[in-house]
Amino acid sequence: MTDITTIAALATAPASAGIAVIRISGPLTRKALSSLFQSKTSPTDNPRMLCYGKLLDYQSSAVIDKALAVFMPSPNSYTGEDVAEIQLHGSLLLVQKVLRSLYAFGISPAEPGEFSKRAFLNGKFDLIQVEAIRDMIQATTDKALKLASEQLEGRFSDSINSFGEPIRNALAEIEAHLDFPEEDINPDSLKKINSTIKKARKQIKNLIYSYSYGQIVKDGFRVLLCGRPNAGKSSILNLILGRERAIVTDTPGTTRDLIEEEATFSGYKFIFCDSAGITATTDAVEKIGVELAYEKLKWADLVLMVVDSTESLEQSVSTWMPVLKELRAKSQKIWLVFNKIDLCLDAILKFANESKSADQVFYLSAKTHNGLENLTNSLIEEIQSRIADQSEGSAIITNERHRVCLIKADEALSRAIEIIKDSKPLELCSAELRLALTALEEIIGKTWTEDLLGKIFSKFCIGK
Ligand code: GDP
Repeated sequence: MTDITTIAALATAPASAGIAVIRISGPLTRKALSSLFQSKTSPTDNPRMLCYGKLLDYQSSAVIDKALAVFMPSPNSYTGEDVAEIQLHGSLLLVQKVLRSLYAFGISPAEPGEFSKRAFLNGKFDLIQVEAIRDMIQATTDKALKLASEQLEGRFSDSINSFGEPIRNALAEIEAHLDFPEEDINPDSLKKINSTIKKARKQIKNLIYSYSYGQIVKDGFRVLLCGRPNAGKSSILNLILGRERAIVTDTPGTTRDLIEEEATFSGYKFIFCDSAGITATTDAVEKIGVELAYEKLKWADLVLMVVDSTESLEQSVSTWMPVLKELRAKSQKIWLVFNKIDLCLDAILKFANESKSADQVFYLSAKTHNGLENLTNSLIEEIQSRIADQSEGSAIITNERHRVCLIKADEALSRAIEIIKDSKPLELCSAELRLALTALEEIIGKTWTEDLLGKIFSKFCIGK
């Protein structure tokens, strides 16, 4: 008797559609198909062949639906277990009936993500690849899709293995020496270990660096619109998005909540957030908005400071210059957008001095659309320049969890190098290498260190 349950769930979206796919995985799959799917050609006798037949209800033996079924025997299936997929008519009522019948047969409802969890536990994928499947499903741009499919093919996993394995070997060598302390470690070996660690650090740093690119491609480039109430932030946002979303009125402070909107230009995903306006105000609600906007500064990849060109220089400067300084202190990129130039034809001259404080300056009219194209083109160029250093074909990380683990690994390796440099006891170096490997193992969901002893044994004992 096996204690592995068999699971089933709807694999397609829970909505009425042309067809619905129910997936089953586990030891009962074969028996369930044989009993509940009546067909001329048996799917269990003809693996990976789509067979036409009738789906029967387990309790009443009544026909629930005419369907197609395919059987994929273990281990050559998604989960590594026996798997079946049934295509039935896409009615949620039919789906419910089939699932009830399967549950009555002794199959359990799958937990969210359980098929992928089984695939991981059965060694079909590492953790990175399981995460890539999720990213692939959620991708909304071509570029995000490409990145997820590269992760699924194992580009990032290969990269981790390419420096994880040498670190493991270095650790094996040090631990072998610690087991036989009567012999001094060969200085050449130590030199080699040192260069292995340095090389690994370089690769890790490249991966950490790739995060800013990966995040932009996967999650979008985050642009925060700030500025005094009534400067035209909502109008600009609506214009960029090409639709009415933010409320535009003549009353300052209308946009009281943070509005987040997604848009795709040239295959890049952008997330725009319209703040309530960063400005000193006595209005209590507006103040909350201001606080929210300040919070949001950490979130933004770029800040657009929208200025009403019709305001007197003093008015504008007194209000937003302190804010600009604050942003600068946080080393965030700021673009100044002078809006309403239809009402202020000499805006370029008027703001010549203030313009120097910004990374880029735009003159725009949300009313006439003048200058809009320049702004959107510059946004695309900005993304492209941020990802330009990312060479084609190199591994990229898109996940904060991966970034944190890589930083942990890098810190441990940096300490290991110091230990070797200062000729400190090698036990300390071994501990740091183990820490680094544990951090890498956490990313990939694989254990390198467990079999370390066996490796030491075969390398240093069997050969003797
Ligand atoms: P927000 O508070 O910064 O979001 O500002 P809104 O987008 O709500 O705009 C405030 C007012 O300015 C509205 O009446 C808009 O129609 C008007 N407005 C916005 N941009 C322009 C512009 O470029 N030219 C002119 N003439 N009016 C504008």
